[in-house]
Amino acid sequence: MLKRYLLTPGPTAVPPEVLLRMSQPLIHHRTPEFEALFAQVQEKLQWLFQTKQNVLILAASGTGAMEAAVSNTCSPGDTVIVVNGGKFGERWLKISQAFGVKVVELKVEWGQAVSVDAVAHALKAHPDARAVLIQASETSTTVLHPVEQISALTRNTNTLLIVDGITAVGATVTPMDRWSIDILVTGSQKALMLPPGLAFLALSDKAWKQVEATKQPRYYFDLRREYKEQQKHTTAYTPAISLINGLHEVLRLMQEEGLEHIFARHALLASATRAAARAMSLKLLAPDAPSPAATGVWLPDGVDGSRLLKYMRDGMGVDIAGGQDHLKGKIVRISHIGYAGPFDVITAISTLEMALRRFGQQIELGSGVRRAEEILLEGWPPVGQ
Ligand SMILES: *Cc1c(COP(=O)(O)O)cnc(C)c1O
Repeated sequence: MLKRYLLTPGPTAVPPEVLLRMSQPLIHHRTPEFEALFAQVQEKLQWLFQTKQNVLILAASGTGAMEAAVSNTCSPGDTVIVVNGGKFGERWLKISQAFGVKVVELKVEWGQAVSVDAVAHALKAHPDARAVLIQASETSTTVLHPVEQISALTRNTNTLLIVDGITAVGATVTPMDRWSIDILVTGSQKALMLPPGLAFLALSDKAWKQVEATKQPRYYFDLRREYKEQQKHTTAYTPAISLINGLHEVLRLMQEEGLEHIFARHALLASATRAAARAMSLKLLAPDAPSPAATGVWLPDGVDGSRLLKYMRDGMGVDIAGGQDHLKGKIVRISHIGYAGPFDVITAISTLEMALRRFGQQIELGSGVRRAEEILLEGWPPVGQ
């Protein structure tokens, strides 16, 4: 038997109480029972997004909500500014192009955060831009972009700030209303500790006005129709009932922990992971603006990352992520988002140490683990708490 550990930045591990909750017999969705469940989940989602707006729930992966954000606010021929610093920034670009929207692309080197100045310049050059599209946390490069500063640029303009928060919401601060985020998007299989299949988004008043004005064909992702139904605590089409049951349990667990504690836990796990990598003499992919969701680490020259990951997964039972596109085989990404604790970090680092040794590297066994333990000891609740 090989005991398995899922330590990838999506999908992430699901807590046992959530798995149990999702295995309950189905209830029909056009019933008072489901509407009561849905209403509770909606209220908890407002708490999570830190917004007074309705958070819409779609049966889709996260990309569905990204597409809905674009198709409901951008007409063909509109111009948008896309921050493209990784695979998911590129996805904003491709979705926009698919809907006939002109893209001003702000290319950012993988591993770097976008500079606020670059966004300011783009907005000056394109004052008519319909939206700025960005990731809060760019999972492919493990970078955190400066969303709060960028929101100061779009706040009192006609330009919408559309944020992919798929590995940020529930992992780090993204207070939608306080930061004047116009559309905030997330998905179920990252910080929300659920299987894939739910996408979420909330829109500001400014964004809703634009939804009415947008000339773009929409059907399944017509947010006007979805809003109308979800105000009545139901959905336009059949909801993913079991996932919404699980979501209820997840949000209960999250409220029990509290947002501040959730963010502090993610920050601590991320900081221990980074310190461990440095102690192993491995370079960080995003040293200047690291995401609390996952940590990208450069592998030593001469190590075939794809083979290393396969060995870790199939030989050791530990699944961590690799790099995409030009980073394929060159980096690993260790996840600490969602249902993650100190011993997930220890497991990931220990596995990496052992696998690198197997692959002929002169890594001192325990060097990373030791450093991670030191950081975790400093930050973990003291005895008696
Ligand atoms: C995972 C992820 C997505 C894509 O979500 P899917 O659920 O695969 O559609 C988009 N953006 C970010 C930042 C992600 O981490």
